[in-house]
Amino acid sequence: MKENYYRILGVAENATQDEIKKAYRKLALKYHPDRNRNNPEAEEKFKQITEAYEVLSDPQKRAQYDAMRRGAFAGGFTGAGRSQGPFGAGATGSGGGFTFTDFGGFADIFEQLFRERHTGGGRPGFTDFEFDEEASRGNDVEADITIPFETSVRGGKQTITFTKTDRCPNCGGSGAQPGTRVASCAQCGGRGTITVSQGAFGVTRLCPGCGGRGTVITTPCVVCRGTGYAARPKTLTVKIPAGVKDGQIIRLAGEGQPGINGGPSGDLLLRVHVQPHPIFRRDGDHIVVDKEIDLATAVLGGQVAVPTLDGEVKLKIPAGTQSGTVFRLKGRGVHRRGAPAGDQHVVVKVVTPKNLNEKQREAFRAFAREMGWKV
Ligand SMILES: [Zn+2]
Ligand SMILES: [Zn+2]
Repeated sequence: MKENYYRILGVAENATQDEIKKAYRKLALKYHPDRNRNNPEAEEKFKQITEAYEVLSDPQKRAQYDAMRRGAFAGGFTGAGRSQGPFGAGATGSGGGFTFTDFGGFADIFEQLFRERHTGGGRPGFTDFEFDEEASRGNDVEADITIPFETSVRGGKQTITFTKTDRCPNCGGSGAQPGTRVASCAQCGGRGTITVSQGAFGVTRLCPGCGGRGTVITTPCVVCRGTGYAARPKTLTVKIPAGVKDGQIIRLAGEGQPGINGGPSGDLLLRVHVQPHPIFRRDGDHIVVDKEIDLATAVLGGQVAVPTLDGEVKLKIPAGTQSGTVFRLKGRGVHRRGAPAGDQHVVVKVVTPKNLNEKQREAFRAFAREMGWKV
């Protein structure tokens, strides 16, 4: 049993009916086939949460389910054929305690959930269903943005072009060409669900003919080809905050998918990719750069020019500097808002001379003798 119904709905095992209903409503809206067209993952998720809700919202079924989870339920589960569900193959048994044939109230809810949205109400008995009247926020959309290293440190502006999904302006999101008829789905009779038999009992499934919508479009909108959405390229100038890190997300409010029933749009989440710099790298709010110095400067000391993002600065090298020594240029790192300014770290690499001529080698030997080294 890999998933349990409580986890699927994200509620505690002692959740009240009200909490279960709320959790279901939130998830059902998020994974609703209407806003996730041609998305098999969302459809599967929608099936799972619906299955979880149909059990947990019924006190009797919930009690049986709880009992089964505690391992105290002996027999009575006819779980055959539901190998995908949480009951799995292990929950077989005989005798008729718990089957999925009795959808009763649930089927009504399910039906209403779909029908209401597509017919805009108007069918007697389905007009006051709360799931459908509630406006809901559009889904967030993710996109990538690549910025130069300098921009990640100093901040700045970057123009991006992304695909923005809006309600189709031609059909208003219905997917039907304006002026044409939306027909009731013949496969499910407009219910949005079908009941298929699985051995001894039947299970209710989303209608494959209409994807649960209960209606079929006779003439798809010529602009969106029936999807109800229009995707178009949109260009935005994004403000990049100083100190942004690779992998960080910048949220652009309202640039995601359109809301449902007048709900607000989702957000656009931009994942930041910082281009590597040929000489600088980041260490938190510090900027790190390697600086090669010659042996004489390392031994005798001196001054070297070091690159920073603001141009070259002079760095004093004390006599006797070892390779790998790190010098700090205070305040020359990242200036992130609300954080102490970072520094630039200069990592010194002492370059050992190579390919000496005989005269140079002799000079080194003389030096070595002076030092008392064996050469
Ligand atoms: Zn359209
Ligand atoms: Zn149908």
